[in-house]
Amino acid sequence: MNSTRRIGLLLTLIFLLPALFFSVYEMSTLNKDEKMIQEIYQKQLDAILFSVNQYADDILSSWIARIEGHYDASLPTDSVPPKIQDVLNLNASLQYVFIIDTTAKEPMKIYTNNMYDENIRQHIEQTVSNHRTVIAELIRYKRSGFQKIMRIAWADKDARFTECLVYISGESQMKISGLLINTELFFEDLIGPKLQAVAQDQFILSVLQPASDSVVYTTATRNDTTSTAEALTKDLWILPDYSLGIRGKGTTMQELVRERTRSNLILLIGLDVILIIGVVLVFRNLKKEVDLAQNKADFVSNVSHEIRTPLALISMFAETLEMDRVPSEEKKREYYHIISKETQRLSGIVNKILNFSQTEANKKTLYPERLHVDTEIKNILDTYQFHLSNKGFAYTYEPVGDLYIKADKEAFTEIMINLIDNAMKYSDTVKKIDLSTRAEGTDVCIVIKDHGIGISKKDQKHIFDKFYRVPEGNLARKSGTGLGLSLVKQLMEAQGGRIMVSSEPGHGSEFRLYFESHNN
Ligand code: ADP
Repeated sequence: MNSTRRIGLLLTLIFLLPALFFSVYEMSTLNKDEKMIQEIYQKQLDAILFSVNQYADDILSSWIARIEGHYDASLPTDSVPPKIQDVLNLNASLQYVFIIDTTAKEPMKIYTNNMYDENIRQHIEQTVSNHRTVIAELIRYKRSGFQKIMRIAWADKDARFTECLVYISGESQMKISGLLINTELFFEDLIGPKLQAVAQDQFILSVLQPASDSVVYTTATRNDTTSTAEALTKDLWILPDYSLGIRGKGTTMQELVRERTRSNLILLIGLDVILIIGVVLVFRNLKKEVDLAQNKADFVSNVSHEIRTPLALISMFAETLEMDRVPSEEKKREYYHIISKETQRLSGIVNKILNFSQTEANKKTLYPERLHVDTEIKNILDTYQFHLSNKGFAYTYEPVGDLYIKADKEAFTEIMINLIDNAMKYSDTVKKIDLSTRAEGTDVCIVIKDHGIGISKKDQKHIFDKFYRVPEGNLARKSGTGLGLSLVKQLMEAQGGRIMVSSEPGHGSEFRLYFESHNN
């Protein structure tokens, strides 16, 4: 496995996988937490409604406890025993108390604090006779020691707010006792204050009548903005036609939990995205460094190779000359020529490396001056003409008008020579170089085009990197250091210019230099 892959794998194993595992785990627990919190909330609501129900039951039980045992059979039918009178006085919602002797020995007793309604007796009789089975059941309960209170439908359909509750009282002498309650008053006077106390600022509690789909009592005020749906409803034990409803005030718990889960999820996904971007960036940088290290290693071996060949030739011919073993003067001259050519080659390589290191370390001082592009290029071509034709190259040159740029003369020559050298080096059978100049907006563009081997899109991204050499193809026989284009780019940028390349493998390459125009 190569080092870049290994780094990629390590980064994935150390950072990405644990983060992704953690995220997936967190996402699943977030859902679980949300469910758990909702369940707890529901249980809490349930407990609140339970306590209200219990309270309503307690009120009734306390009434019954206070009424029980105070029927006085000896009193005249229309006079109320004092204890019962007390209960009636204190509770406006308790409108009538009636007692029916199961043996029918005594007449029915009806106690009230209100104006006595003439029809009430008849309605009570009607109601009780409508529910004989319920009464029988209550008696059975009572016999087995359990006093149960039940609501039975009140016979008078016009009395909208009257509810009738019956239970069995007495021990040996069982009596059917009943309470007629005005529900409107009951909820307003007794249940209401309890609901207010429980609700406080956190909840809205209501008494609902599902049959008529109406709200009988609510702690909600006009300013409360909540969804109208109740979070939980429970039947009222003592009056099953009514139910209790509860919901959160302001933002409900469910909404809060959902909101929190959502923001947690967004945070988690955000962190993952940042982590992935971070890992990609780190990977890219590391890859760059690894590639650079690799290119550097190649550079060292390339340069050593480049230096070794001329050195070997120089030392061989110098030794031969030194030993005076050269047969003719002509041969001697040839050897001297080889030594001088190889020395030039050596100094060429050394100069290139020095130039590169100076430019890279920003130690190269540039002296920009106004240059007439056409003159400069012609001068370079004149000097290079011999070299070009020597290698079998032809060139065309198409200048456009008088163009001026501001550049360091030496650096400009260096740039041009590097590009022309490359054009020669990387040409195959078509040995032709086309040069041209043109004005492009506020820029001057110089084009160096060859018809050589071309550069793939992938390599075009790297050819300006230091030490980079295109690895494939028949490059083996081309000598080079991988510094040329990097030097060109650095020199261009140092002078405020830029270099672009267009190329297609097998169809040659075109390098374009852009300098700011200095025509005025
Ligand atoms: P080198 O010393 O290898 O020529 P350069 O920096 O000058 O280094 O170029 C980098 C690489 O770009 C070269 O190895 C070569 O593959 C590619 N290259 C540069 N110029 C050309 C060109 N005109 N045609 C094809 N390939 C080129």
